[in-house]
Amino acid sequence: MSRFRFGPHFLGRCEVFYLSPLSFAFVNLKPVVPGHVLVSPRRLVRRFHELTQNEVCDLWSTAQKVSNLIEKEYDGTSLSLVIQDGPDAGQTVPHVHIHVMPRHKGDFKINDQIYDELNKSRLDNDFRTPRSQSEMAQESESLRKLLYPDGCIPEELKCDNLDS
Ligand code: AMP
Repeated sequence: MSRFRFGPHFLGRCEVFYLSPLSFAFVNLKPVVPGHVLVSPRRLVRRFHELTQNEVCDLWSTAQKVSNLIEKEYDGTSLSLVIQDGPDAGQTVPHVHIHVMPRHKGDFKINDQIYDELNKSRLDNDFRTPRSQSEMAQESESLRKLLYPDGCIPEELKCDNLDS
């Protein structure tokens, strides 16, 4: 049984790879680029302005920690960190989340095309094929190992079965 909710979705517990006191980071069902992950507050909050100051600090500190790792791991040279805050800004899942996307020189013909790619899922739900649970769990496991190098993985993130 998943312990993590992302808006209306119950995440497989193997999909979450990092936990802070008030936030969690997880792999993406339909990444726009390899290494595209998400960071959310643990509390189910729809809009950014609804977060407390402590949640804002924790969310962005977590995004900084996770994005440092993601940039290195995916051989990026830059990063896009994006919040689509509200449906008219492109938000499709009503739970605050920071998109963390590693960037490379020339990865899109026009640099800002990444924002069009983010929005394609909103315009056409079938545009990108969802990844399998096991593919997501494998990516999550490698990120988890790097974020918890001493092997002290929080109990809530323990994940024995790749499909659970
Ligand atoms: P937005 O359109 O800004 O709300 O972004 C929603 C993000 O959540 C997209 O990157 C989706 O691919 C991702 N997403 C949707 N459902 C899930 C899920 N069950 N597990 C992981 N990521 C998801």
